[in-house]
Amino acid sequence: MGDYFMHNYRRLPVMFVKGEGTWLFDNNGRKYLDFTSGIAVNCLGHNYPPLVKAVCDQAARYFHCSNYYQSDIAAAFAEKLVAACTPGGMKNVFLANSGAEANEGACKIARKYSLKKYGPGRHTIVTLRGSFHGRTITTLAATGQEKFHKDFGPFTEGFVYIDSGDRDALEKALDAKTVAGLFIETVQGESGVYPQSQEFIEEAARLCAERDILLMFDEIQCGVGRTGTFLAYEQYRYNGAPVKADVVTLAKGLAGGIPAGAVLAGEKAADVFAPGDHGSTFGGNPIAAAAGLVVLETVNNPAFLAEITRKGTMIMAAIRAWNHPAIQDVRGRGLMIAIDIDRDAWPVLEATIARAEGTHAFGMDKCGLLILSAGQKTLRMLPPYTISDSEIEQGLEILHTML
Ligand SMILES: *Cc1c(COP(=O)(O)O)cnc(C)c1O
Repeated sequence: MGDYFMHNYRRLPVMFVKGEGTWLFDNNGRKYLDFTSGIAVNCLGHNYPPLVKAVCDQAARYFHCSNYYQSDIAAAFAEKLVAACTPGGMKNVFLANSGAEANEGACKIARKYSLKKYGPGRHTIVTLRGSFHGRTITTLAATGQEKFHKDFGPFTEGFVYIDSGDRDALEKALDAKTVAGLFIETVQGESGVYPQSQEFIEEAARLCAERDILLMFDEIQCGVGRTGTFLAYEQYRYNGAPVKADVVTLAKGLAGGIPAGAVLAGEKAADVFAPGDHGSTFGGNPIAAAAGLVVLETVNNPAFLAEITRKGTMIMAAIRAWNHPAIQDVRGRGLMIAIDIDRDAWPVLEATIARAEGTHAFGMDKCGLLILSAGQKTLRMLPPYTISDSEIEQGLEILHTML
């Protein structure tokens, strides 16, 4: 089957045919605990009944109508999404289909905001080393990791990288004459789950406000409740209150498994786009909007978010208590967790899959575990928010025996 796909993915040797909650089933009837959520996408697990119903109901109403017209379901989704991001300072939204597309929108907003107010030459966007912002030519340019850049240049101009946490470099890089925006991945996911420090975010918020540089957060992986608050940057403080941003991007978990992305803008940036400035054929797709509404109704609830924090804390405490010699660090926020180990992560991913045995082997001792890597020697867990305590225990037990 591999012959029909391009060779850009290094895929593990397992093929799935069905999902249910935290479980995936392969074409040989073996079952696996899913601690990946399809890379933070299926945040309510597989086959979540209200999500399935909303998608089916909307499919029976209409699939798509284009952005020439208004869609009732997309309008309802936009209203709920902006409300969920109001504590983060957001006023309105552009709906896209993916993370990279959302980030392209954010870059365009920063460029136009600055151009209209200050004229040409003030178009630089500052990003952080270790960040991941996407795979298009511009979002690769925004991504502060050399390994993604090789072979694909020349890139979009106007991106500058500094180190996370380096407040002196931040102060120097944010030149009010040349810089339009600062784009921060609040919790760096792809590079190994590294949350930004409070001091760094506070300084970023202060400098951006002072110099009229847009403060933008990429919350494509860490947003939509993943870290225990709807937006991860809500946990940071500036001037005695939660940080407010000018732009935030979301995708991955936003519609629970249907492709969706979003760029939200606060007061400063909300009116940057005029008719014709930006668009997306599939953006705001009604089926994605129906799914997104269920995600928002379920996740944006204090009790539900508190459970994400509780489960994440429980996982990290349990792993630390092993005192396993192979484990060098455990860190995370909510259900976004990384484990640094003393060896390559990929063989662990293979072993936890290979553990699943036999046809229709439903005994817990026979099931596999799906877990991600993030860098060569780091394991990453992004379990669905709906995971149960006993599933957490089962998954951790498998991991323990495989290390
Ligand atoms: C996954 C990811 C992206 C890219 O999203 P795509 O939907 O794959 O384009 C961008 N930024 C962050 C932080 C991500 O985790």
